[in-house]
Amino acid sequence: MHALIVEDEEKIANFIARGLREASYETVIARRGDEGLDLALSEPFDIVLLDLMLPGMGGLDVTRELRRAGNKVPVLILTARDTVADKVAGLDSGADDYLTKPFAFEELLARIRVLLRRANGEGSFLLTVADLTVDQKRRRVERAGREIRLSNREFALLEYLALNRDCIVTRTLIANHVWGIDFDTFTNTIDVYVSYLRDKIDAGEGTKLIHTVRGRGYCLSEKAP
Ligand code: CA
Repeated sequence: MHALIVEDEEKIANFIARGLREASYETVIARRGDEGLDLALSEPFDIVLLDLMLPGMGGLDVTRELRRAGNKVPVLILTARDTVADKVAGLDSGADDYLTKPFAFEELLARIRVLLRRANGEGSFLLTVADLTVDQKRRRVERAGREIRLSNREFALLEYLALNRDCIVTRTLIANHVWGIDFDTFTNTIDVYVSYLRDKIDAGEGTKLIHTVRGRGYCLSEKAP
């Protein structure tokens, strides 16, 4: 995987690059917006991590120019701006997601995985883990051909786990993405929903797909992490 980091603050750019390299991404850093745009248009990147306040050209303009040129590379905006208006402007410009600094690196990696899976299509909105399929478009779930009925919240939780297949997602990330809230004292509710999912998906099956990783979170995978 090939990531372009467009960020003028050297410390932040290096921090992101180092973390991504540890996660086996190849990285290129651009320190100016116009330089980032040129690179993104001339090399095939899998993802672009883009600051908004940049010399040369702002991040919103970089995204607009990329989309105008027909370039569909996933763009994740990373910025200290965090008002709703800024987020809307970022997404309106054609960016795929938005993460506010400071962020936990784990959260950045989770967002990148989701964007990459979405970009790669994965059989057009069909997420699979062993004999489990999650159809994001039709919101249908099957295990070994048996249809599983889920509530909206259960579906959202399973979809998030499936998007992060084979990776550990923390309860904080789950609270954030599935419930849209930021705090940790919510973990009981998450555990209860995971147990609902287990009853519907894993009960009676030889291979358990939902794993609890003590002290860290949950993982949907064919093998225990
Ligand atoms: Ca900046």
